[in-house]
Amino acid sequence: MRPLALRTKLTLFYSITVSVLLVGLALIYYRVLTVGIDRDLTQDILDRTSGLRGYLRFEEGQPIFVYDMNDPDEVTFINRAARYYQLYDIRTGGLLRESDELQGSQVRFSREDVQHYAETQPTFTDVHTDQDQIRFRNEVVTSGRESYLLLVGASVKPIKETLDSFLEGLAWVIPSGVLLAAVASWFMAGKALEPVAALGKAAGEIAVSSLDRRLPVRGTNDELDQLAMQFNQTLERLEKAVDEMKQFTASISHELRTPLAILRGEAEIALMQTSSAEQFRRVLASQLEEFEKLTRMINQLLTLARAESGEVEILKEPVNISAMVQTIIEDLEPVAASKNLTLSSDCHPGVTVNGDGAWIERIVLNLVGNAIKFTQPGGHVNVSVSEDAHNATLDVHDNGIGIAPEALPHIFERFYRTDPSRSNRADGVGLGLSLVKWAVNQHDGSIEVDSTPGKGSHFRVKFPTRIINPN
Ligand code: ADP
Repeated sequence: MRPLALRTKLTLFYSITVSVLLVGLALIYYRVLTVGIDRDLTQDILDRTSGLRGYLRFEEGQPIFVYDMNDPDEVTFINRAARYYQLYDIRTGGLLRESDELQGSQVRFSREDVQHYAETQPTFTDVHTDQDQIRFRNEVVTSGRESYLLLVGASVKPIKETLDSFLEGLAWVIPSGVLLAAVASWFMAGKALEPVAALGKAAGEIAVSSLDRRLPVRGTNDELDQLAMQFNQTLERLEKAVDEMKQFTASISHELRTPLAILRGEAEIALMQTSSAEQFRRVLASQLEEFEKLTRMINQLLTLARAESGEVEILKEPVNISAMVQTIIEDLEPVAASKNLTLSSDCHPGVTVNGDGAWIERIVLNLVGNAIKFTQPGGHVNVSVSEDAHNATLDVHDNGIGIAPEALPHIFERFYRTDPSRSNRADGVGLGLSLVKWAVNQHDGSIEVDSTPGKGSHFRVKFPTRIINPN
C-alpha cells in the first residue's frame, strides 16, 4: 500500500484527535447533566412530599389539604406538588385519595405493596405508565391511631426529553465539529507544508553545475530554517569538494601535458634530425627522466586517491620512531653527501608512536627529502625526535632556500610548488606534502611549518603518544 501523504496524515491525526476530544467532552458533560438533573428531581420530590404532608389533615377519617386559598404561593405550590400523589390506608391497603392526573392511570399498589412500603424506610420508586414515567416517594403519615401511606411523585419525562434533545444536539454538533476540524486541519497542514514544498522545489533545481545556489532561509529560525541551513552547509561542503576535484583534474591535466609535450617534442626532433645511435641514446636517456617523473607522479596520485577514498587502512601499532629516523638518516647520508650537505640527527632513544610504520616512514622521508632538496650545497639538515607527557615530536630543520610567507599557507595543497620555474624538474610534482598532511591527520597528529626565505625551514610534526579516550 502506498504510504499516505504527510498532509493527509496530519489531517487524519487532527480529525481523530478532535473527534476523541469532542466525544469525550460530550460524554462527560452528558454524565454531569444526567446526575445534576436527577438530583434536582429527587430534591423537588422531597420538597413536594414534606410540603404536602404539612398541608394534609384528616377530618372524620377523610384526608383533605388545608391551605390558604388566597395565598398565591401556597396555591401554586399545592397545584404543583399535588399533581401526582396517592394516599393509601395501610391497614386495608385501599386507595383513599389520588390526584386527578393519576385517576384512570394504571398506577395502583396492592395491599402487600402498600404494607411493604409502610414498613420500609422512605425511598424512591419509578413507575412506568403508558405515556409517562413517574418517580414516587413513600412516607407514612399518622392521624390518631390510623396510619396512611402517602406517595408523592413527579414526572421523569421532562428530564428524559431534555437529555434526548441534548443527545440529538450532539449528533449534529460532533460530526459538524469533526468536519470543521478536518477542513481546518487540511488547510493548516497545507499552509504549514508550503515552505517544505518550496524547499523541495529549490533543492530539486540544484545541479552539479549550480552548486553555488542555496535554499531560501526565511529567517524564522524554525525547524525548516534549521533544515535549510543544514542543507546549505552541506551544499557548501559539496561545492568546495567539487571545486577541489575540478581544480585537481585541471592540475593533473596540466602536470601531464608538460612532460608529454617535452617527450613528444624530443621524439619529433630526434626523428627529424638524429642520425647516429649515440644521439638516439642521449635522447632516450633524457626521456627516461621524464618517464620517471611521470611514473612517480602517477604513483603518488594513486596513493593520494586511494588514501582520500578511504581505501587505505592505517594500522595502530607501536612504532619506534627514534630508531626509524636513525635508519633513514643513515640511508640518506650518501644523497646528502652527493649534494655536499651535512645531515645530522638528535633522537631521544625509544620514542614510540602508536601508528602505521609505513606511513610514518613516508612522512619522515618526505620531510627530510624536501629539506635536502631545497638546501644549497654546503648547507645543513638536522632531524630530531623528542617526547613530552602527551606528544612525540619530529623536527626537521634546514638552512636552505626557505619559503616565502605568501606561499606558506599553500604548500600542503596538491601540486603546489613555490617556484614554478622548477616545474619541469624531475624531482618533485608538489604532491609530497599533501600526502604528509593526510598521513599526519590519520594519526591524530599536527604539522606546522616555520620558514624564512634565504635562511631555512623548520617542519614540526606532533603525534599523540597516549591513546585518547573519545569519551
Ligand atoms: P615537491 O614534490 O615539489 O617537493 P611538496 O608537496 O613536497 O612537493 O612540497 C611543496 C612545495 O613546498 C615544494 O615545491 C617547495 O616549494 C616547498 N617546500 C617544501 N619543503 C621545503 C623546504 N624544506 N624548504 C623550502 N621549500 C620547501
